[in-house]
Amino acid sequence: MYCLDPNYELNIISYDWGETSWVGIADANNPKSIRLNDWFEDDDNTDGKYADYDYIELVRVVLHEFVHTAGVGHYGDCVDEVMSNADGKDLQRTHLNGGDKAGLNYIY
Ligand SMILES: [Zn+2]
Repeated sequence: MYCLDPNYELNIISYDWGETSWVGIADANNPKSIRLNDWFEDDDNTDGKYADYDYIELVRVVLHEFVHTAGVGHYGDCVDEVMSNADGKDLQRTHLNGGDKAGLNYIY
């Protein structure tokens, strides 16, 4: 049986963190947090920054980072998994795959 922890807190912050090597990053500590670089709001492509990323990639990154907050790491370049750390902009993956679920099941 799963219970919702009343003390569970997850902060999701979209902000311009500057030139980073990441588009999203998670912290699994308490309070848990997900930081998104604000390129997701840059859909007019006026500066060309992150031009290849779209809403589908936003969903994938948020899901990826959310699973990190649960304690799951990367699956290397296994691109069938949301938890792959391959560059995801071409993956178009917005649902957990078998390996992602196995990682969560292992922890919980
Ligand atoms: Zn990751």
